[in-house]
Amino acid sequence: MFDAHTLKARPESAYVHRWIDGSPMEMPLGKCVCVGRNYAEHARELGNDVPEEPLLFMKPATALCSLHEPLVLPQGQGPVHHEVEMVVMIGERLSGETDLETIRFAIAAYGVGLDLTLRDLQSRLKEKGHPWERAKGFDGGAPVSGFIDARGISVRQNLEVSLEVNGESRQHGHTGQMLFPTFELIAQINQVFTLEPGDLIFTGTPAGVGPLTSGDKLTARLGNILQVFTRVA
Ligand code: ZN
Repeated sequence: MFDAHTLKARPESAYVHRWIDGSPMEMPLGKCVCVGRNYAEHARELGNDVPEEPLLFMKPATALCSLHEPLVLPQGQGPVHHEVEMVVMIGERLSGETDLETIRFAIAAYGVGLDLTLRDLQSRLKEKGHPWERAKGFDGGAPVSGFIDARGISVRQNLEVSLEVNGESRQHGHTGQMLFPTFELIAQINQVFTLEPGDLIFTGTPAGVGPLTSGDKLTARLGNILQVFTRVA
């Protein structure tokens, strides 16, 4: 039996998907499908091979939180690394779809997020051949920005994905460097996982990942369409 006093449930998450102006979107919360090693330079910086097919993992909806609020990091489990990524929100159900135009029109919105990672824990899990969820799927592990309507955006343009920490450039890449570009990536993902409205795709991180500490001030950018200032609590 659990002693009620030892159960430290977190307060119910207030997170909902929002447009960039802060108004709530009428979209349910769903899973986050993430892709590892989608930028060759980042794969190399962690000593990994460049994959032949997308390396996929998931974070649950309970990992979602707002990038616009101070970030609360897990304590006592080693360094928490930032991985800035373009985030794609699915607007229409996709299952077994390969047509790239259909996929394009099934995208509701674009945002920017952090795939927060307990790096030492992830390394230990990798060594043992264990799943990564403990290092990736924790509560608050998926901070995301407000979203921009996909109708206004051409992802065929090369969007800059970048992160500054305390005024210093840490991560800098372009979506054109992605090994699996957005639509092709989603075409592969939905052969395995049916994608539903409100699901998010984290499209991978450029090189330059590193640890965050309390008080860090962050600026995450997606091209010239999104810029988010935030800090670590
Ligand atoms: Zn990532």
